[in-house]
Amino acid sequence: MKAIVFQQHGGPDVLRYTDAPAPPLRSNDVLVRVKACALNHLDLWVRRGLPNVPIPLPHIPGSDVAGEIAKIGSDVTTVRVGQKVVLAPLVSCGKCTACIAGLDNHCRQATNLGYMIDGGCAEFVRAPEVNCLPYPENLSFEEAASIPLVFQTAWHMLVARAELQPGEDVLILGAGSGVGSAAIQIAKFFGARVIATAGSDEKLQKARQLGADHLINHKSQKIREEVRRITNKRGVDVVFEHVGTATWEESLASLAPGGRLVTCGATTGHDAKLDLRFLFSRQLSLLGSYMGTKSELHTVMKLVAAGRLKPIVDRVFPLAEAAAAHAYLESSSQFGKVVLRV
Ligand SMILES: [Zn+2]
Repeated sequence: MKAIVFQQHGGPDVLRYTDAPAPPLRSNDVLVRVKACALNHLDLWVRRGLPNVPIPLPHIPGSDVAGEIAKIGSDVTTVRVGQKVVLAPLVSCGKCTACIAGLDNHCRQATNLGYMIDGGCAEFVRAPEVNCLPYPENLSFEEAASIPLVFQTAWHMLVARAELQPGEDVLILGAGSGVGSAAIQIAKFFGARVIATAGSDEKLQKARQLGADHLINHKSQKIREEVRRITNKRGVDVVFEHVGTATWEESLASLAPGGRLVTCGATTGHDAKLDLRFLFSRQLSLLGSYMGTKSELHTVMKLVAAGRLKPIVDRVFPLAEAAAAHAYLESSSQFGKVVLRV
């Protein structure tokens, strides 16, 4: 099969469009003919290499897959060959206490397609049967591939971790990112007031179209000052963080007393400072969040099929141009998802 493969870590130029063996099928697996694979920041980290994460080489990246079932293992009963499918990116053991409790994102052995195992930047990808999600027929393959990772992550952050309530104020950083554009929609769905930040007025206008009530251009405005003005000096109930070092201090300073900061990433760096007096005297909560559960993703897919949540596709590249797509995502000029068409 054709695939995007890298043999060593580095810049986008390590990605090669080449031939690779199709993955062998196990009894509980499906083989999916990939039609589209959406990129995530995770793909950039995996390609560059992470300290203490021995990614098996050669490696096929790509976590977000939409396609058709090409083959099924002998024990597969819930999907059939030819069926359109979206894959849940998180592959967990299915046997540990966390998995049995439905908290597969707590599984110690869990990894993503394209992270410690081969992913979807290829003509075929192997995945467990339980990772097959119903295909929302109102969407193209490129749109369908744009849902799982970012919507699952944003849902788990806002709903499960921050327990967002109707009428609350939420600050969503990086509205132009995949996770940011998902978070705006989920926060509005739950009846919150959304303040969104982005680095250009063009991105902010798109954030408004998704439902953001207030906009902050973080290049020309100071986030904490704008939040104070918009909330009448109170601050927000929830900050949706994934930017890291560059925005951490502004994020903390934007919280109302009793506020919750929830974070799923550190795109600009992982070093953060915290004044403990500020944390306890204002009774703040700092919440870490990682991926989401398959059950949450099934809920998301229902809302997507009903048109209540919609994937935002910025740009589509052919699979062979994965290196250009990586470079484009690294430039941060996108609004929404960058997708490879296979
Ligand atoms: Zn497990």
